[in-house]
Amino acid sequence: MELRYPDAAKRFADEVRAFMRAELPPTTRDKVFRRQKITPAEQREWQGRLCARGWACPGWPAEYGGPGFDALQRHIFDTVASEEGAPAAIPFGESMIAPVLFHVGSPAQKAHLLPRIRTLEYYFCQGFSEPGAGSDLASLKTRAVLDGDVWRIDGQKMWTSMAHHANMIFMLVRTSTEGKPQEGISMLVFPIDQKGITIRPIITMDGGHSTNEVFFDDVRVPADSLIGEANKGWNYAKLLLGHERLSIARIGQSKRELRLLKAMAGEQTVDGEPLLRRRSFREKVSMLEVELLALEITALRMIQAGGSPGVEANMLKIKGSEIQQGLTELMMDALGPWAMPFDGERGLHDTNEATLGPADAASEGPNILSTRVVTIYGGSNEIQRNVISKSLGL
Ligand SMILES: Cc1cc2nc3c(=O)[nH]c(=O)nc-3n(C[C@H](O)[C@H](O)[C@H](O)COP(=O)(O)OP(=O)(O)OC[C@H]3O[C@@H](n4cnc5c(N)ncnc54)[C@H](O)[C@@H]3O)c2cc1C
Repeated sequence: MELRYPDAAKRFADEVRAFMRAELPPTTRDKVFRRQKITPAEQREWQGRLCARGWACPGWPAEYGGPGFDALQRHIFDTVASEEGAPAAIPFGESMIAPVLFHVGSPAQKAHLLPRIRTLEYYFCQGFSEPGAGSDLASLKTRAVLDGDVWRIDGQKMWTSMAHHANMIFMLVRTSTEGKPQEGISMLVFPIDQKGITIRPIITMDGGHSTNEVFFDDVRVPADSLIGEANKGWNYAKLLLGHERLSIARIGQSKRELRLLKAMAGEQTVDGEPLLRRRSFREKVSMLEVELLALEITALRMIQAGGSPGVEANMLKIKGSEIQQGLTELMMDALGPWAMPFDGERGLHDTNEATLGPADAASEGPNILSTRVVTIYGGSNEIQRNVISKSLGL
């Protein structure tokens, strides 16, 4: 079953699809379909093509260099681009810190940062979590003290994804211990290549390196690295996390993966019969397909309602992440023994060695493991459920 868009929206979807088919470099597209890592160079190359077409940063208004899409166009753009195998945008700059800058950035910060985020010259990472401050983010301890015209920063961040590729960081720091913990947090933005910063890799169970520990030892950054007002960082973080949760729903990506799952299950046979013809397996695939459709309809209803993402973003995050995990589990079932050999390096990166079994099999082991994270980051699903129940007065 397919959703039918109004005529103008359908024409736009066709235009986006034609652009993706013409402009996506085949190697990048293949890597996306095989769920392999896209390098920063490949990501920048793609961003350059989007900039040239005027479609970079699809969520941005035209006044800041975005395409000025309305909410439905944005949804269509994201969904079609993912379905066609475009690399997912690096969210930290374009969809996380940028919306905060739109609201509270100084004119100088907007003028300097936004154009460089748009071209991906500035590759951001997000320094929020700390050891002991994940779900309970407000208990963060990394301190920043204003000393003349510099902030002096000491502490440790944890799980800082892409810090090893990034040249910029936005982070939450403790600037006051008075009042409620939320009232003493500020947000800073600065280049990550600073004296006193040490980045150490965390190798995750998929065998990959995408996240890090970051240590700050008397790091000094200019006073104007502060975003908005001091001690108001918690409010800005809430705005930013709403956008992160929306992007984690990844409807287009799940549509692409569903197609891949059906293709795999059509090729694999059990007792001479394609797996997809087996009623028990087909039912599981159908259940996920219905849930994905329901997710998209919910997203479209939210778009129709307008306004900033509220508790609906939490709902989309929960359901979208569960669907992503469900898809990887069914792919594992479909590939059966071909999915068993595990080699993180080989599954995640480009290789010219022949794969064992179907071409998609090598990445399935790392993929099922790396997808565990989607119910954890951006605030775990348990925390999302707490937020929803609180909003209902429960
Ligand atoms: C691979 C990876 C990449 C990440 N990337 C980033 C990043 O780039 N930048 C960044 O700042 N952070 C990042 N994170 C951190 C992520 O946001 C946190 O891991 C997440 O918020 C959970 O925090 P925690 O790990 O401290 O777990 P904890 O908060 O210790 O939670 C442990 C478990 O207890 C549950 N729990 C905790 N409190 C409650 C409660 N009140 N009610 C019910 N259940 C509860 C949680 O749901 C979870 O299941 C990343 C994490 C991972 C694993």
